[in-house]
Amino acid sequence: MALVDELNFNEKGLIPAIIQDDKTSKVLTLCYMNKDAIEKSFDEGKIYVYRRSLGRLMIKGETSGCIQEIRSVYVDCANNSLLFKVDQHRAACHEGYFTCYYLKVDKKGNKEIVDQKVFDPKDVYGKEENSPPLVTKSDQWRDLAKIFINFGGLLAISMKKFFNVTFRLNVDS
Ligand SMILES: [Zn+2]
Repeated sequence: MALVDELNFNEKGLIPAIIQDDKTSKVLTLCYMNKDAIEKSFDEGKIYVYRRSLGRLMIKGETSGCIQEIRSVYVDCANNSLLFKVDQHRAACHEGYFTCYYLKVDKKGNKEIVDQKVFDPKDVYGKEENSPPLVTKSDQWRDLAKIFINFGGLLAISMKKFFNVTFRLNVDS
């Protein structure tokens, strides 16, 4: 029997997974995994999550490069959740912090940032998420600009010729 057959998935086919940094024992994040994500994570040795918005599995850190290499995996006493101890590359949180739990809170909901940013999310996600379409777009604009420049040049030459001719005709007449 495979591990996934023993786990208690919820009605959506998901199970919570705690991700913990192997070196520092810091809790990095909590995510939900389906069967495919668990199997893929075991096969690849890296954390994979199922992104419903994309309708596919994606490696954690696909955009940022902040992947999580699995060191060991644990299951709780009732097969209700998993614990992955990982080697965290750079930082786990998309906000740029090492762990998603960088906000200390009290009962009133007051929040205090208790960690230092490892990276600026704008540098990581702003660039990497937008760069493929931006490159394409800027290429498109460049091509369009070239067409306009060429057209403009052609137009200028035509106009110059036209006016020269017109001018000469006027002078001649
Ligand atoms: Zn986070």
